[in-house]
Amino acid sequence: MERKRIYLSPPHMGGTELDQVHRAFDSNFIAPLGPQLAEFEQRFSDLSGFGHAVGLSSGTGALHLALRCLGAGEGDAVIFSTLTFIGSVTPALFLGAEPVFVDSDTESWNMDPALLEQALDRLAAEGRRVAAVIPTDIYGQSCDLDAILEVSGRHGVPVVCDSAEAVGALYKGRHAGKGALAAAYSFNGNKIITTSGGGMLCTDDEPLAERVRWFSQQAREPEPHYEHNTFGYNYRLSNVLAGIGLGQLDVLPERVRRKREIFDFYRAELGELPGVDFMPEPEWSTATRWLTVMTLDGSFGVQPEDVRLALEEFNIESRPVWKPMHMQPLFASSRIYGGGVSEDLFRRGLCLPSGTAMSEDDLALIVEVIKGCAA
Ligand SMILES: *Cc1c(COP(=O)(O)O)cnc(C)c1O
Repeated sequence: MERKRIYLSPPHMGGTELDQVHRAFDSNFIAPLGPQLAEFEQRFSDLSGFGHAVGLSSGTGALHLALRCLGAGEGDAVIFSTLTFIGSVTPALFLGAEPVFVDSDTESWNMDPALLEQALDRLAAEGRRVAAVIPTDIYGQSCDLDAILEVSGRHGVPVVCDSAEAVGALYKGRHAGKGALAAAYSFNGNKIITTSGGGMLCTDDEPLAERVRWFSQQAREPEPHYEHNTFGYNYRLSNVLAGIGLGQLDVLPERVRRKREIFDFYRAELGELPGVDFMPEPEWSTATRWLTVMTLDGSFGVQPEDVRLALEEFNIESRPVWKPMHMQPLFASSRIYGGGVSEDLFRRGLCLPSGTAMSEDDLALIVEVIKGCAA
């Protein structure tokens, strides 16, 4: 019999999610808005430290609404991390704004503040309006947010954190994203906690939160009939799915603990092999290790792709590091500041299975297969 597949980061229910969904059914709050959504937003606001949290249908939608509220449009630039997932960047395209990419630093793999400064200086010299800086918190690790805020603030450009992968991560003791004008989080199926699909936009700016809420429900004027001066979107999170989110929030600390334990196991078992290294964790970061990411250099003997295929033979899923946006055909004509660091990570990196429901046997098999690849 074929062994059950080990996935990269599958959903892991805590046990109370279905009770919460039943609560929604019992009260017939199947319509999008309802008490589960209000409670999920309140609890997420407490977790993130932001004063306001708006539940949305995706992390991509959260970034889209943030950019729309900031007035991003034709002729504007929006600055992104090049090492990210496409959902971070497409909101700029939806609005006709131009994405400009900034490379990673080697310390955290996130947006390099020095290169960001170069990008902002250059765009300012050209007289371009920059609608926002959107740094990603990659693989469950915060960017150096204070440095990014400082540089962006000098240019008067707001920062919206793409913390989609960083629910539960800390930066200098505060939640990832906190300190930016706003932060977007994702509860997609592969993230550390999931509502099967969903997102959250958090901010301390109450008018901004209200505007995001309003845009997410078709931008309707306060009239009994449906009156519209502009267009919005249908981006609210469903009350039923918020019920799943409530159950998942109960187990978030346990999920973070287990993700970090899985990382420690990989590092202890593989870290001594020639050429093996892992995503670093700067002293200001407490990463969730949403995914454990390993890098290989020449002395390991084979390429990350060989390791991926060897794991696949055992029905084990692993995946290359995100292909940088500036290397994507879609963005062939886009500007990039730096680029070598993320290109190197893409060539040398491999994301290892990091599911919190994996057994000790699963983990032992994975490291055995990887050790078997080493020279
Ligand atoms: C998952 C993800 C998104 C998009 O979130 P969705 O909820 O899937 O729309 C955006 N940015 C990054 C970095 C992500 O990993």
